[in-house]
Amino acid sequence: MFKKTAGWLLLSVLILSACSNQSTAGNSGANQTPATPAASEQNAGATTTPSTGKDADATASAGTTAGSTDAKSQESSSTTAEDSKAEAPVSYTYHMNKNYDIVPNKESDKTPKKVVLLTFDDGPKEAKMINSMIDTLDKHNARAIFFVNGSRVKRHPELLKLIHDRGGVIGNHTYDHIVLKNESPAKVKQQIEDTQKIIKETINVTPRFLRPPNGAGNDAVHEVAAKNNLMYMNWSVGSLDWVNQNDPQAVITNVMDQLHSGSTILMHELPWTVEALDQLLTKLEAKGYTFVDPDTIEPEMR
Ligand SMILES: [Zn+2]
Repeated sequence: MFKKTAGWLLLSVLILSACSNQSTAGNSGANQTPATPAASEQNAGATTTPSTGKDADATASAGTTAGSTDAKSQESSSTTAEDSKAEAPVSYTYHMNKNYDIVPNKESDKTPKKVVLLTFDDGPKEAKMINSMIDTLDKHNARAIFFVNGSRVKRHPELLKLIHDRGGVIGNHTYDHIVLKNESPAKVKQQIEDTQKIIKETINVTPRFLRPPNGAGNDAVHEVAAKNNLMYMNWSVGSLDWVNQNDPQAVITNVMDQLHSGSTILMHELPWTVEALDQLLTKLEAKGYTFVDPDTIEPEMR
């Protein structure tokens, strides 16, 4: 008799404890099977730590845990899936040579040599320009690197998110757009690493391309770049959009005059460049050029 009562008591306690655990977990209403306490804790852990994963491994494990359970976890797993997509290993089909031209890794008919890499510096400035540029890129099935300044990201984090959300690849263009070759090693480090940090904090992506302002570096710049796994990337075709202001046709002419296979084209987030872009990309395609996806460029220059 005593044993039976104790058994009922124990069962009641277990049921009560299961119920309270479920209500503590809170958002597991969609889950048909009551979660065990251990599982609830795991879920809670996965949902509170997902997108800040410091590295691919952390992100991947959070995603795996979250992916197996309830609605709240699914919500977080979609975030982690996007994050891990950004850092997922890809097969590199191109590299950059010492002239800052893009070259296929293998001689193959499948990998076009007649390509250009599109880059836009000095943003993010304005949603209207960014949307117009990316609308044009989308129309031509092109992606580009947007070399941003940390100070601009600080003022407009939502614009960095916009570029990233719309498929733009983000590069580091220093924090304050200062000419690094004139600066101390400590200042160089701060300018590059503060920019890496604010980009990572804003979109959870660590850039792997660095463009020093004016294309001007020194040993310290190369050293800090290498330590941060950043490829030092100048350009091989300057659109001169910073010289020929308010002149969309000049932007096009300047690029077409210097165009060659593998051109890395320097442009800026400027109204006349935005205006010229559709016509420029149409002309490039008419000459048989296609656009390199920046994610297919291997990390080491050679
Ligand atoms: Zn610049």
